[in-house]
Amino acid sequence: LRRDGLTAARLPAVTRDGVTCHLLANIEIQSELPGIERCGAQSIGLFRSEFIVPSDADALPDEDTQCAAYQAVMAASPDHIVTIRTFDFSSDTLPSDIREVEPNPALGLHGVRWWLAHQATARTQLRAIIRAAETGRVRILLPRVTCLSELQAARQLLDEALASLGMVGLPTKHIELGAMIETPAAVFIADRLARESDFLSIGSNDLVQYLLASDRGNERVSYLQQSLHPAVLASLKVIVAAAGAANKPLTMCGEMAAQPACAFALLGLGIRRFSLSPAALPGFKSTLRRLSARDAEQFVARALTLDTARAVEACAETYLNA
Ligand code: PEP
Ligand code: MG
Repeated sequence: LRRDGLTAARLPAVTRDGVTCHLLANIEIQSELPGIERCGAQSIGLFRSEFIVPSDADALPDEDTQCAAYQAVMAASPDHIVTIRTFDFSSDTLPSDIREVEPNPALGLHGVRWWLAHQATARTQLRAIIRAAETGRVRILLPRVTCLSELQAARQLLDEALASLGMVGLPTKHIELGAMIETPAAVFIADRLARESDFLSIGSNDLVQYLLASDRGNERVSYLQQSLHPAVLASLKVIVAAAGAANKPLTMCGEMAAQPACAFALLGLGIRRFSLSPAALPGFKSTLRRLSARDAEQFVARALTLDTARAVEACAETYLNA
């Protein structure tokens, strides 16, 4: 299987019936950078920037340190395009010295909420990213968005950061701003978010957690990590339609795509850009090359009428084993 995967990494990401997909890498640690191209990624589709902060740090890295880290990521991206996600902290994942205590971190001041509540930090990060973008093309991604106002506030901060660097009026097409769709609220306002974003990314790891109200790290409810639950499929359909109507690029960043039945569903829903951990990419491409997009569309039309994740999985199996 391993040999299969490595061979597939060098082959085009094309389905059996000729539909080309775009494969990108999810990166969180610097040691993953050298192997990106070998895994078959064309680009970095998600750089989890919070991982540049050591867990025992007593402060966040300064602008120059961050800029150097982002430049290193840019240099490692095969096409020099990188989607940098702004710090996605929760109160319990902040570095120990600045940790805050909240009763329910997954529903607290996390993701873009935390970032907007710490504007000096947000400004420093934006300046570091903009400066790093001189050596490539950057897409700035906001995690765990729930309100349009968060995207608008981030856009304003970005404009101010550009102005502070004397970049007003210069072409800034190489710096785009996008929202992660990973909360139920973001699904329901995906049309508004798509209109005001330059691109959208689906964070299915969190989307499943929040849709099914089940902590993704809690073993006792792990049976609810159902990526093919009817609520998940219906949400994905809404997101794909919103991105399509606004003509904005959409990337699936969650790890669900690594499961063949999920890859089949995502393909059938019309998703063509997949960002996965480097280790999962060769296997994903190998799966993709065995799938037919036409069959996948038929399967999804049927899957959307089914009542349970188990029924959707069984339906996928009938296609995949045919
Ligand atoms: C996700 O939630 O699917 C995602 C890509 O982000 P993370 O796993 O870092 O929360
Ligand atoms: Mg997430």
